[in-house]
Amino acid sequence: MRSILVETEFDVVILGSGPAGLQAAVHSARAKAKTAVLGKVRSSALYRAHVENYCCLNDTLSGESILREGRHQAEKFGAVLIEEDVIGIERISDGRFAVKLESSDTLLVWSVIVAMGISRNHLNVAGEKELLGKGVSYCVDCDANFYRGRVVTLVGDGSAAVSGALKMLLVASQTHLVCASLDISEKLRYQLESSPVELHCGRKVSRILGDSEVQALLLDNGEKIETSGVFVELGAKGAIELVTGLGVALDSETMRFVAVTKKQETNVAGLYAAGDICGPPWQIAKAVGEGCVAGLEAASWAKKAAARVAQS
Ligand SMILES: Cc1cc2nc3c(=O)[nH]c(=O)nc-3n(C[C@H](O)[C@H](O)[C@H](O)COP(=O)(O)OP(=O)(O)OC[C@H]3O[C@@H](n4cnc5c(N)ncnc54)[C@H](O)[C@@H]3O)c2cc1C
Repeated sequence: MRSILVETEFDVVILGSGPAGLQAAVHSARAKAKTAVLGKVRSSALYRAHVENYCCLNDTLSGESILREGRHQAEKFGAVLIEEDVIGIERISDGRFAVKLESSDTLLVWSVIVAMGISRNHLNVAGEKELLGKGVSYCVDCDANFYRGRVVTLVGDGSAAVSGALKMLLVASQTHLVCASLDISEKLRYQLESSPVELHCGRKVSRILGDSEVQALLLDNGEKIETSGVFVELGAKGAIELVTGLGVALDSETMRFVAVTKKQETNVAGLYAAGDICGPPWQIAKAVGEGCVAGLEAASWAKKAAARVAQS
């Protein structure tokens, strides 16, 4: 961890150094706003991913290498990277935000971009952690293609799990869905029931089996499903508690993601959001697109706010 911050005043501070935060940093810094980026590289959802569906990549790239390049790029354009988490944020009387870091330093900034990603809800069963990336996945859109011609199992009760299972039918040789109880629309239920997805309703997963990769999963009634992939679709938690204290509004449908306009503005003036924390799809392409818009908008807001205060 770094010792003492030389600078504590910035135009724009970005909470999160995943693809959304790094892209926001590139655009904010290039727009000549003094920009800081917070967060730990290993905490990005991308860190352990292998990516093959992001524009212009011909070869599969590791998320770690994409993030390394992104960090160098952001620094090259003048952004300051601080590998620390934020523990508090409040608005102060001159209109700026005071952003408190875990080292207890405080940054004073005109504009904030929230790009803290989400953490997936887990099954919390034996084998899940050990086989992550070796057959256990939390993202159908990201990993479906790796299971072409193989047997996969979706786990979850909601529309994300059911839509995921229907999508997997396009690539997998056989698709199972394990659900405690289904909570979906009539239309989706009809689509599911008229599809070849093999349903295991009223069941829970008790463990995932396999040594170096997933081979099967065990249900609570003792039934064993031979499968190469287990997609856990139990929804996501946002790191949004930090900003809801400022009055940031959440999306009206799920109340789990930060609600934003097309300019990535939240309902709090000067506070923007981008990436997974704004809701699905969980994809780099969406995260960087939103990061770009948020970076430009936040830089513009910060310059205007600073000029207004200087004139008054
Ligand atoms: C296993 C896996 C495979 C995937 N594969 C693909 C793929 O092939 N293609 C694809 O497009 N997408 C893929 N994804 C999804 C993709 O990684 C995410 O959509 C993307 O990383 C979201 O970017 P983000 O910047 O919003 O959040 P993240 O990348 O999750 O970054 C969040 C950042 O916020 C920081 N942070 C959190 N809390 C705090 C705090 N309190 N203070 C400061 N900083 C904080 C973290 O340190 C981190 O730097 C995959 C995801 C996973 C998990």
